[in-house]
Amino acid sequence: MDTEKRQLHLFFFPFLASGHLIPAIDMAKQFALRGLKISIITTPLNASLFSKTIEKSKTMGLDMNVLVIEFPCVEVGLPIGCESYQLATSLDLRTKFFQATAMLEQPLGKLIQEYAPDCLVASTLFPWTTGVAKKFGIPRLILHSISFFSMCTFECLRLYEPHKKVSSETEPFIIPNFPDEIKMTRKQLPDFYTQNVQTYATKMYEQVLEAELTSFGAVFNSFYELEPAYANFYKKVLGRKAWQIGPVSLCNQDTEDKAQRGKEASIDFHECFEWLNSKKPDSVVYVCFGSMANFNDSQLKEIAIGLEASEQQFIWVVKKEKNDGGKEEWLPDGFEQRVKGKGLIIRGWAPQMMILDHKAVGGFVTHCGWNSTLEGVSAGLPMVTWPVSAEQFFNEKFVTQILRIGVAVGAQQWARFVGDSIKSEAIEKAVIQIMVGAEAEEIRSRARELGKKAKKAVEEGGSSYSDLNSLIEELRSHGIAGAASKN
Ligand code: UDP
Repeated sequence: MDTEKRQLHLFFFPFLASGHLIPAIDMAKQFALRGLKISIITTPLNASLFSKTIEKSKTMGLDMNVLVIEFPCVEVGLPIGCESYQLATSLDLRTKFFQATAMLEQPLGKLIQEYAPDCLVASTLFPWTTGVAKKFGIPRLILHSISFFSMCTFECLRLYEPHKKVSSETEPFIIPNFPDEIKMTRKQLPDFYTQNVQTYATKMYEQVLEAELTSFGAVFNSFYELEPAYANFYKKVLGRKAWQIGPVSLCNQDTEDKAQRGKEASIDFHECFEWLNSKKPDSVVYVCFGSMANFNDSQLKEIAIGLEASEQQFIWVVKKEKNDGGKEEWLPDGFEQRVKGKGLIIRGWAPQMMILDHKAVGGFVTHCGWNSTLEGVSAGLPMVTWPVSAEQFFNEKFVTQILRIGVAVGAQQWARFVGDSIKSEAIEKAVIQIMVGAEAEEIRSRARELGKKAKKAVEEGGSSYSDLNSLIEELRSHGIAGAASKN
């Protein structure tokens, strides 16, 4: 068959966590919308989370399917059903989780052999997939779930080690040879920078960097106009090949798609929508810390007090079950009665994209996960930044100092599991700063401009739209060259 006319078939293999799966499905959809065949490789429990989205994509005529592989929980000593990184809540479980993911090499290889895809698009946290793809003679694209800014930060920290040249964990250092002057402290860095022992995280970090240099290239959920200096730095100074094709969340245009994204929401969608419809534009602040970040009860109480004192209307997402009848220790007495009509608590999973895009929402208190950050940018919202883990402290710098569309709540300590303590007064102050007054208006107008640029990037002719075209063309020519060399 003429290779140029042949439909390209891509394997998508995202890491097993909401913050990776959700954007990967959106990204896969973008490729399918251009006529490519997409197979998503995942485990049974994760497959069930997006089965509705896949069914819907089929009814729209997209060529998308799911190939399920078993997750070896029992073999590595994980509890049965621990197929999502969120469920691995201790260092021991996380080490086992990564051991289990490495055992997916064989079933993945079998699928590649059986279906002979043209390319493997696999999560950055599966560095071993570069070797698997090589074995079968196909390119591996790295599926990045962070920004260019963060990738460049990681790389400059590795190259120049400024954190080793300060005398305490609170003494600020500047990231050397960087496009902008960014100050950080050792306290804000992931623990693999500050521990001298080898853990699964340090090993993973080394393997990820090695795979960066040996893979076909990387795809980013970002857009050029958002971080041109860092996209250029990554490509030209660090010499890596990359395409930016986001914000991928913007492919969810109808309300049903937005509501179904990720997981079944813990609130009736219509109830939430009606509640927001009853509010004035830009009058509600949305508070959510992603799928992983945790706080203890006393911190949740401080958030409640801070929100009430700010006198702003809010939607607050708390990762707690509804406690029917019993006292909820994390809520101040009488809180829900006092804020009735003014504040809505969602216990569990929120339809985040639908909420952020609603005109009543005027601000976002976020843990700075890259997806949430980009979703906030796309919705044109000012943010209160409250980083906890992963590369979230880097994203905070990006939002507050480079984009200047956010205010930091004051978190100082990176944490693998439970976030830094922040007093209610700081929460109240930061929320007011992005919701009320001249400064808030200034931040909001910058955020709105960025939101417009985000939408433009994915429209026909936009930078991300064009970059996706270039990537598909390059994969096509690679396919032709590969086919020729096999003949
Ligand atoms: N999300 C959601 N509802 C929730 C919590 C999170 O829809 O209640 C989505 C959110 O829109 C984002 C993803 O889950 O797409 C979280 O990814 P992010 O990178 O922000 O943070 P992580 O969960 O990886 O820390």
